[in-house]
Amino acid sequence: MDEQQSVLSFLGAAGTVTGSAHLVERAGGRILVDCGLYQGERRWRRLNWEPFAVAPESIDAVVITHAHLDHCGYLPVLVRDGFAGPVWLTESTAALAAIVLRDSGHLNEREAQFARAGGYSRHDPPLPLYTLADAERAVARFRPVGYGDDVEIADGIRAVLSPAGHVLGSAAVQVQAGASRVLFSGDLGRPAHPVLAPRAAPLDARTVVIESTYGDRVHSPSGSHHAELAASVRRTLARGGSVLLAAFAIDRTVLVLMELAELMRTGAIPAVPVVADSPMALAALDVYRAAATRGELRPGIGPDLVDLPTLRLARTPEESMALNEPGAPCIVVSASGMASGGRVVHHLRHWLPDRLSCVVLTGFQAPGTRGRALVDGAREVKIQGRYVPVRAEVIQDEGFSVHADADELLDWLRAMPRPPASVYVVHGEEHAALALADRVRQELDCAVTVPRRGEKVLLD
Ligand SMILES: [Zn+2]
Repeated sequence: MDEQQSVLSFLGAAGTVTGSAHLVERAGGRILVDCGLYQGERRWRRLNWEPFAVAPESIDAVVITHAHLDHCGYLPVLVRDGFAGPVWLTESTAALAAIVLRDSGHLNEREAQFARAGGYSRHDPPLPLYTLADAERAVARFRPVGYGDDVEIADGIRAVLSPAGHVLGSAAVQVQAGASRVLFSGDLGRPAHPVLAPRAAPLDARTVVIESTYGDRVHSPSGSHHAELAASVRRTLARGGSVLLAAFAIDRTVLVLMELAELMRTGAIPAVPVVADSPMALAALDVYRAAATRGELRPGIGPDLVDLPTLRLARTPEESMALNEPGAPCIVVSASGMASGGRVVHHLRHWLPDRLSCVVLTGFQAPGTRGRALVDGAREVKIQGRYVPVRAEVIQDEGFSVHADADELLDWLRAMPRPPASVYVVHGEEHAALALADRVRQELDCAVTVPRRGEKVLLD
């Protein structure tokens, strides 16, 4: 490599929506932006088990944009396999990612146990991808920084994080490597997030790496959103059934509980018991309360975010198990959000065959997940090695989406201090990435590429 030149490599989330990992290197320094887990289809998930593209011990530092598993969930493997540097992230991301990674380590151990007992794994004996102890070693490397802090994270490489408005603590990352500047969008939120302070204008860079989760879509105008949810809840309760909402525990659960509180307050749905079935929900609420005091939330939203008198928490596995057959009609909010793991999977096994029930998916469902299969109208889904018939009502409430749509992604690019020279479109299904690339090419005068996994480019 030329002394002066910096190279950007697309190690993950290229051609797919999970597994974010981007490497920036120059003579003397090598850093990784995001270290995400692949989720969804097996052809992508199997990459979690392959050796990482570069030797983990050769990486000087990692920057994490936000606490979703597809951006931080591979860290325990990277650390176990030799990465020994700092992990830079915002304070809220550190708090949420610690909850998420510990839970993920625990779930990985549990799933390996189930697979061993049920004999349905292709690994013999079934092994966890990583353990709770591996997750703890990753969390021990966290180095929180504030938005706007300019930090030297490796020899000749600096990073600045700015608010992305996607989930609490989320950031876009400007990396300065020698004379080159590259801006990573991370995942971008909508300009009007119900809880978070609005995303910041992007920082200057010649090169931009932008997500494209909804690169081919424009969200329907707000106002009417959650009307379908309210109607489904009323209908389900009226026929004597209960409602199961799948929501990612650390961010979506808070939004869902706030919305249920609002729907009950306005009389849009009856005041029935609501159960937050997640040991992480309370911990996450505390992180939100702390963030409220730091001013990371929308003005007017204080530490008492969820005002829901009928709320109770299912903390223990026994309390959660009791929800498999809830008895009296109620609303259960359980994780994970794409039904790919967590307590919600056990509930689905019991609830999906029941015509009285209603299952609500909230937000983006990656291909290959149970959540996606349900949204696409599957008549049966595979759970723990068995096929379960789908007789329950299934709806998707897109009003909870925390991803910018195509217009909002373009608005973000247009808000840059000067137009970028090159834009790389990642973190989208192929059709979404290509659609966004087309629009960027037409509407902004710059070079646009949808990179392949493993592709390397020289930075200006
Ligand atoms: Zn995300």
